[in-house]
Amino acid sequence: MSRIAYVNGRYLPFHDAKVHVEDRGYQFADAVYEFCEVRAGRLVDERRHLDRLERSLNALRIPSPMSRAALSVVLREVVARNRIGHGNVYLQISRGVARRDLPFPKEVAPSVIVTARSLNRTRIEATAALGITVASVPDNRWGRVDIKTVGLLPNVLARQTALDKGARDAWFIDQDGFVTEAASANAWIVTADGKLITRHADHAILGGITRAVVFEAVKELNLHIEERPFTLAEAYRAREAFVTSATQIVMPVVRLDDRQIGDGKPGPVATALRGEFHRFAELG
Ligand code: PLP
Repeated sequence: MSRIAYVNGRYLPFHDAKVHVEDRGYQFADAVYEFCEVRAGRLVDERRHLDRLERSLNALRIPSPMSRAALSVVLREVVARNRIGHGNVYLQISRGVARRDLPFPKEVAPSVIVTARSLNRTRIEATAALGITVASVPDNRWGRVDIKTVGLLPNVLARQTALDKGARDAWFIDQDGFVTEAASANAWIVTADGKLITRHADHAILGGITRAVVFEAVKELNLHIEERPFTLAEAYRAREAFVTSATQIVMPVVRLDDRQIGDGKPGPVATALRGEFHRFAELG
């Protein structure tokens, strides 16, 4: 079965799905996106993702291209047309196509694209059973990474640096030695005395939807949580570490740079949160 993508009002075969060379997303990263898990053909936490999309659009003053209900229909249609059981759906909205010039163009319609992809769940579970390794890299991103824009070049370079070092992901470290987040996930540790720590959601991290759902799970599992910055040194000493994102859900981290975390295996907190996650997520 061939893949289908949605581009500005049309459902097209994947290889015909194209945007204009002067799309501002392409030329200036003047675009926002969302990435949502699909589970048994249903969108996970669509409401929260669309809330965050609205926040990102407002922050960049890009007008909403269509109503929330219409956007929801398009997302579902792309999932259905691609027969996604387990996978994800990607939505990108740019300011639109205009003659190349920095200021906002007048009377331009935003461009909307939606794609979807199946994922091999068995492979992801096998990775989670072993945990992943992470390399620390300097956080050299702009000051508003809480807005989910497609300007991801530092994230691309960070992930590649990590891969070049034999790790699977990167953790960004700010100028004061604090961990901000991973290249495409939020970062967490469990301290020696069992406290869960993740950075507070300021302008230095993306407020992850998975992170928000884990907060719900943590309440019911009676875990003690602290939202505050933590240093790389504190992370090295952690009993457990993990990352959260719509693609990885809760993914244990077993090695950080040249240090083993805990006993080098996925810890009980990360494992429990991974197991319980979908009880707290909303299935559309
Ligand atoms: N932080 C960054 C930089 C990300 O790119 C992502 C996801 O793409 C996240 C955190 C996690 O966000 P979510 O849980 O909404 O997928």
